Amino acid sequence: MKVLTDLISKIKSVQKPSNKSCHFCLRKTNDMRTYKNERNLKVKVCPLCVEYAERRAFRK
Ligand SMILES: [Zn+2]
Repeated sequence: MKVLTDLISKIKSVQKPSNKSCHFCLRKTNDMRTYKNERNLKVKVCPLCVEYAERRAFRK
């Protein structure tokens, strides 16, 4: 069940995001933007996920 293992590790990484990688895709770029999530915590969002963050009503 490799798919299940991958899913679990993905969930774990989402629950414990690095503050240096994108909140959504976990990529690291040097053009990160800071948003606040629904818990008012600062999260980094890469340019590719900014649109998604906007849709989720994250604020700058
Ligand atoms: Zn991203």
